[in-house]
Amino acid sequence: MSQAPPMTHFVMPLPAPVSLPVAGSTARFPVNRVFCIGRNYRWGADAVATPADMPPWFMKPSSAVVAAQGVLPYPTGTRDFCHEIELVVALGRGGLDIDPAAVEAHHIWGYAAGLDLTRRDLQQQAKATGGPWEAAKAFDHSAPCTPLVPATVCGHPRTGAVWLTVNGQDRQRADLADLLWPVPALVAMLSRSVTLLPGDLIYTGTPAGVGPLQPGDVVRGSVDGIGTFTLAVGAAPDH
Ligand code: MN
Repeated sequence: MSQAPPMTHFVMPLPAPVSLPVAGSTARFPVNRVFCIGRNYRWGADAVATPADMPPWFMKPSSAVVAAQGVLPYPTGTRDFCHEIELVVALGRGGLDIDPAAVEAHHIWGYAAGLDLTRRDLQQQAKATGGPWEAAKAFDHSAPCTPLVPATVCGHPRTGAVWLTVNGQDRQRADLADLLWPVPALVAMLSRSVTLLPGDLIYTGTPAGVGPLQPGDVVRGSVDGIGTFTLAVGAAPDH
C-alpha cells in the first residue's frame, strides 16, 4: 500500500505571489516573469529598422511589478530616472518555438499599459563598459502596470495611441501601428530563445520621447482602449 509522500517543509514562508488586478473583475493575474523588448519604434530619422534582426530583450524580476497608481518612489542610486511607456502583453499559455500565427489565438491572455522605468545614467554606464543592464532596469517598482484587460474583452489591438505626459506636457506619443516588430513576432522570437510560461509579461518597447522624471512630477500614460494611469513621483532619496 502506497503512503502519501511527506509534506515538503520549507525553511521559511513561501514568497507571496506577485499579481495584477484584472480590469472589471475581482480576479487577479499571477505574474511569472517579465520580459522587456528593446527599441521597437522608429526614434526619428537616424533610427533605421533592421527587419532581418529582432530587437534585443532583457528581463526584470516579477518583484518589480506594481500597480500603476499612487506614488512612484524615486529610486536610489540615480540622478536620471526615466519613463518609457509601453504596451504590455500577458501570456495565458507558454511554449517553445511558438508559431507567430498561433500567438494571438492561443497564447495571449490580455493586455495592459506599463512603464519600463530606467535609471538611465546606470544604463549609459553599462553600455559604455559592456556591463549588464540589471542595475539600470531591474530595480524595485520599475515595472508599474495597469489592470490587465482580457483579450476576450479588448481583442488584439493593432492600432491605438500610446502616449505619456509629464505635468500635462506631451513626452511620448505614437500608435501601436508603428511597432516595428508586431506582437506575434515578438512572442515567437522570445519563444525561440526561452520556453515561455503562463503568467509571463512582455513589455513591448517604447516610442521616442523618453526623458527624466523629477520628484513631484505627475505622470500620465496610456495605451488607448487598454489602460490609462496617473502616478506622482516621490521624493528623491539621494538629494
Ligand atoms: Mn523599454
